[in-house]
Amino acid sequence: MGVRRGPCALVIRDLFEKATRRRKRVSQPKPQPKLQDDWLDHALDEALIFNQREWDEPRKFFRASGTGERCERALTFDVMGHRVPVEPRVARIFKAGYAIEKSNIDTMELVPGLLGDTQKKVELTDPPIVGHYDVRIRTPRNRWVIGDIKSIKTENFDKLPEQHGLLFMMDSPLLDYYHYKYLCQLNTYLFGAKLTQGFLLFEDKNDQRRKIFWLKRDEELHAIVLDIHKTAWEYASQNPIRLAPIPEGFNPSLSSNNLGCKWCNHRYLCRQLPETAGYEEVRALDAKLRST
Ligand code: SF4
Repeated sequence: MGVRRGPCALVIRDLFEKATRRRKRVSQPKPQPKLQDDWLDHALDEALIFNQREWDEPRKFFRASGTGERCERALTFDVMGHRVPVEPRVARIFKAGYAIEKSNIDTMELVPGLLGDTQKKVELTDPPIVGHYDVRIRTPRNRWVIGDIKSIKTENFDKLPEQHGLLFMMDSPLLDYYHYKYLCQLNTYLFGAKLTQGFLLFEDKNDQRRKIFWLKRDEELHAIVLDIHKTAWEYASQNPIRLAPIPEGFNPSLSSNNLGCKWCNHRYLCRQLPETAGYEEVRALDAKLRST
């Protein structure tokens, strides 16, 4: 006599057979139209790059965030409003950086009496430089200091020196080629806000390690920055704005690591322009190059 199967056993067998048929179907997927696969990718990327512009309105000031720039010509390109849109992946990196900055500020807000203000405007007049610092906080000794928050990738975080207590910027081990721009930026904020001490907070984007460097306002570094900006201002203050000449030691025609030129966003345009050029000439050549 065979084994009698109840309704439960039949249901289980039925389910098992259905699952087997489904696995077979899944293991031999039919090609899908491309649109169904990547529509979300496209939608997100387009949202990120939708508002990017190729030119801003010309400005009558330099940006504090760019005071680490060593090339006067690059400063005049920036004041003219020349921009190079970033690809969606880079736009995502920027957004992640803003999120890390916000997370640090949110945490500072939890510490009683610590946070003074955030994103306050500071200005210098000769030449005009404008910026907005990240945070102003109060130390346990009741001193106001300005901080700038930087999110960096792991390979760059690993190259940071040991975090340190209060040092003049020019004495900090951060004063290498890569971190020079951060020191210039913070130093400019300190001069603009008429404060003497600040800090740079670095956070690793991947594992949230953190290092804090305490820094004193530095006249010597400021003099270097002002010198470059005053030369650029001789051209940027003209009406219409003119490009500053290529500084000694820079060569936009070389593809090798030539000071700042290799990584400069303006390079494709800079190398085709004459020694100096007016705003309209720069715009016209850019329109031609971007349309080809
Ligand atoms: S390409 Fe070189 S010379 Fe031209 S603006 Fe950039 S850094 Fe300056």
